Amino acid sequence: DVDIIAREDHCITRKNISPNALKVLYRLNDAGFQAFLVGGGVRDLLLQGHPKDFDISTDATPEQVKELFRNSRVVGRRFKIAHVRFGREIIEVTTFRAHHDIETEVEDDQSRRHIRDLDSAHTSGGMILRDNVYGSINEDALRRDFTVNALYYTTKGFVLLDFVNGLADIKSRQIRMIGDPDTRFREDPVRILRAVRLAAKLDFDIEKSTEAPLPRLAHLLQSISSARLFDETVKLFTTGKSAETFAMLRHYGIAEYLFKPVLSYLTDDNPIDTQFVALAFRNTDQRLAQGKSITPAFLYAALLWPVLRHELMQQNGNRRPTATQIQQTASDVIASQLRYTAIPKRFTAMMREIWELQWRLEPVSKRAVDGAMGHQRFRAAYDFLLLREEAGEDLGGTGAWWTRFQLGDRADQENMIAALQ
Ligand code: ATP
Ligand code: MG
Repeated sequence: DVDIIAREDHCITRKNISPNALKVLYRLNDAGFQAFLVGGGVRDLLLQGHPKDFDISTDATPEQVKELFRNSRVVGRRFKIAHVRFGREIIEVTTFRAHHDIETEVEDDQSRRHIRDLDSAHTSGGMILRDNVYGSINEDALRRDFTVNALYYTTKGFVLLDFVNGLADIKSRQIRMIGDPDTRFREDPVRILRAVRLAAKLDFDIEKSTEAPLPRLAHLLQSISSARLFDETVKLFTTGKSAETFAMLRHYGIAEYLFKPVLSYLTDDNPIDTQFVALAFRNTDQRLAQGKSITPAFLYAALLWPVLRHELMQQNGNRRPTATQIQQTASDVIASQLRYTAIPKRFTAMMREIWELQWRLEPVSKRAVDGAMGHQRFRAAYDFLLLREEAGEDLGGTGAWWTRFQLGDRADQENMIAALQ
């Protein structure tokens, strides 16, 4: 049974929908297919937010979509979907699916071999590995994760279809799992992270029965490939509410499956590191609010800084570590994190550079200053250093020195360098 919400009873209007998404909806309808806007796009339209992307759900198969749109291609190995491209905008068109599914490939080869010939397979723990069954719109609604993500909007009559009481949950600001929460978290433990991310991002509550299993099931994240965990972790911190998100992850006992190495340093009797990590989150949220880019490298460099700093202090006290010591310890610290989430090489390389520059930023000579200033990661490393000072590390005024240096003209800079000798 479905609630049909009439045009005048909801706030979605075409003018807030991407013209390209509208084109896809109309063309599918004209060809005799059903077509709906669905997922985060509808949710954010109802909340008067600005959706970052528009997903469409249809009864046309990916191949049929491909035939209708010359600017489209079929992607996905596990489950095929069509991408319709308009310049930089990609509209994702998904065929109605029955049952539940996970959104990404099973990474590890052994499981892939195991499930190669199956259309729908569960592990003994109840986790879904593969699911390739097309279904009706009704089934498509039920396989989605949360009620607020399962509303369908059509340009035929401009009505909203609600199979799961999602609209009520949007109004009362609740993240509620569709179906039995325990079962659905087991099927795809990444939904644990999605629940937290959505709640933090939208400032919603997690409904009681959805919330209850979180601490108990958090350990299931260990069965998710570290590559997928990396992707999801990055999403967790790009919602503009990273501090709230991190607090929730700790509250539910989820953080230890993602950031174990740093957690033991984030205690009340260790204010510098606690404050530093908090400032890194604040910095991330501020940058996003200003439309600036953020890199996972900066975030992970910050999250692991307390670990690196303490390891080096243990080896060296307060003496300046050698370049080799920094590199070796950085490798160890990164290795300890890689047991939890993958971090692509290009990011670990950047993390090392940001870290190494923390010592090279010390303005000891003209050569040191020129070298640091000319480094590709100077800006990131300088921002990082300012956060360290703000958190209470005593760096002998290095941050202020660089701020003054960058504001100065040529003559000022030469004077500052001359004063170093
Ligand atoms: P965002 O605003 O971050 O894009 P979203 O809800 O649109 O949020 P997507 O990852 O784009 O998230 O997924 C689109 C839709 O697909 C979701 O709204 C949900 O209906 C469904 N979905 C995504 N991931 C899952 C999952 N792990 N299990 C069930 N359904 C999912
Ligand atoms: Mg989306």
